[in-house]
Formats: sequence, structure tokens, C-alpha cells
Amino acid sequence: MPSAKKFDTLFLDRDGVLNVKIDHGYVLGFDQIVIIPGVQEFLASAKNYFERLVVVTNQRCVGRGLLAMGDLLKINAKINSLTGSYIDKFYVCPHLDEDNCDCRKPKPGMFLQAQKEYNINFESSWMVGDSETDMIPAKQLGIATFFFSPKPSAYADKNISSFAELKAYLETFSSHVQ
Ligand SMILES: [Mg+2]
Ligand SMILES: [Zn+2]
Repeated sequence: MPSAKKFDTLFLDRDGVLNVKIDHGYVLGFDQIVIIPGVQEFLASAKNYFERLVVVTNQRCVGRGLLAMGDLLKINAKINSLTGSYIDKFYVCPHLDEDNCDCRKPKPGMFLQAQKEYNINFESSWMVGDSETDMIPAKQLGIATFFFSPKPSAYADKNISSFAELKAYLETFSSHVQ
């Protein structure tokens, strides 16, 4: 069946992209969720262009015993509802570095898990992240990379400074894509 949307999957990091990142800490409760300005409007627009929106998030606070997986899932659901409920799925790596798992970014495990589940075409997908560890696996897989950061990255195709800017870019870019 031919795809109705112009692009395949929008991958998003969570902390520092959807919600404000907590310096030297973790989002452990609803009261620590602060949504980044423009995210909801961007996701609403992206839903018109992408088949699906998925989050890929490292959450070692679970592996460190600071948060139960069930509570993390509730926080993810809350972030989704606060941003308009546009996200189709959250992939979570709960592991520590020393667990040496396949999913903790910059490893590509969560992207590959999503690909297996949805038969994703990476060449037609985008990743938005605020860390080099978001850019590395996405770039390696052929996903277009958007770096929400003033810092340069060898793995980023484009730096963005706001979600209004990214929304405008998506809308303009997609009008040039068949
Ligand atoms: Mg982040
Ligand atoms: Zn993992």
C-alpha cells in the first residue's frame, strides 16, 4: 500500500527536546515536567507529514533504582498528553553504561527495535535530539539529523534553535518533496 504521508518516522529524544532537561538529575515526578515551548505545535504539524512519531529515550534513572519502570511509563504518558498526544510509541533504555546493552544511545538498538516493529524506512525518517548521543546512531542509520543545540556536531545535518523554526523548515521542505 503506498504511503499517504511524505515521510516515514519522526524520532524524538525526550529530555531536552519534549521537556526541559534537569541538570545533573532526572525527571522523577509529574511536578518536574516542563514542556519546551513550541513542541506541541511542531508535533501537530509533523503528524501531517510523518507516518508516525516515536520517542527514543535513555533513562538510566530506572537502572539506578531511582524510578520504577511503571512510574517512568506514567511520566512518558503524561509528557505525551501534555504535548497533544501525538506520539505513537516511547522506546526506553533503562540500562546503565556498565550493563553494556544494545539500546543505550549512542547505540542504535531502540531505532532498530522500532524499525522491526513498524518496518521503518530510515532514509525517509528524521531524528530530533539535543545530545551528540542522539545524532550518532541516527546518522549511522541514514536518518536526517536535527540538533536542538547551539553546539556543532559532525553528525548533525542541521542545527535548530527553536521548534517554531523546525516547524517552518518541515513545512517548507515537505512542499518540495513529492
Ligand atoms: Mg536529551
Ligand atoms: Zn539499554
